[in-house]
Amino acid sequence: MAVKTLTIDGQLVSAHEDQTILEAAKEAGIFIPALCRLEGVSTVGACRICLVELGGGNRLLPACVTKVAEGMEIRTSTDRIREYRRMILELLFAERNHVCSVCVANGHCELQDLAIAVGMDHSRFDYVSPLHQVDVTHERFGIDHNRCILCARCVRVCDEIEGAHTWDMAGRGAQTKVITDLNQPWGQAKSCTACGKCVQACPTGAIFRRGVTVAEMERDRWRLEFIVTAREKHQWIR
Ligand code: SF4
Ligand code: SF4
Repeated sequence: MAVKTLTIDGQLVSAHEDQTILEAAKEAGIFIPALCRLEGVSTVGACRICLVELGGGNRLLPACVTKVAEGMEIRTSTDRIREYRRMILELLFAERNHVCSVCVANGHCELQDLAIAVGMDHSRFDYVSPLHQVDVTHERFGIDHNRCILCARCVRVCDEIEGAHTWDMAGRGAQTKVITDLNQPWGQAKSCTACGKCVQACPTGAIFRRGVTVAEMERDRWRLEFIVTAREKHQWIR
């Protein structure tokens, strides 16, 4: 497989031709934030937080779905990139009801962590304050659509790792939401095996275990990585 050489933030980096900019940066120890990406499942490029600048032009590229190319000059943290990242985060916060102080994921939320990292203390956009449902019909889990950022991590882990395909996306624009089975209450979704993988994958407080405290909401992402690695390397013990 051909190797490509590029620079990321001035650092000379080599990567296989089928790797993305984000993967190459990660291997080189350069952090590019992303919300919809999750190790072990397919990449969809939905959140646009991982935008980077391609030198020699005005182009912005999503690092998670853009393959490396010979001679690329990538910048991951210019003033323009930082401003766009912050703006995307502000829009996410304005779009639904992310009131961290009353969220079960407070302190264990990737959206909150990123907002703190970029120094976001308010949104410049008008809050939409929609009235979305909370579904607690499942005996073990619940979903609060007010906290959902439509990253589709739950859809992908349920389909690609668990093989149940309980989750899907429905609707358009501001009405888009994740649904279980044919838009039935989660508790009636017969395809759900109650494995809890979507709970581990959700970056915000949207999907939660019922009856847990804020302190107990830490996600174990390594469990998803463990399952994927074990499957690929046939490490299962019979
Ligand atoms: S608990 Fe498991 S099967 Fe049920 S929706 Fe979540 S990932 Fe899918
Ligand atoms: S419920 Fe969670 S994992 Fe699923 S799309 Fe919404 S934020 Fe993403």
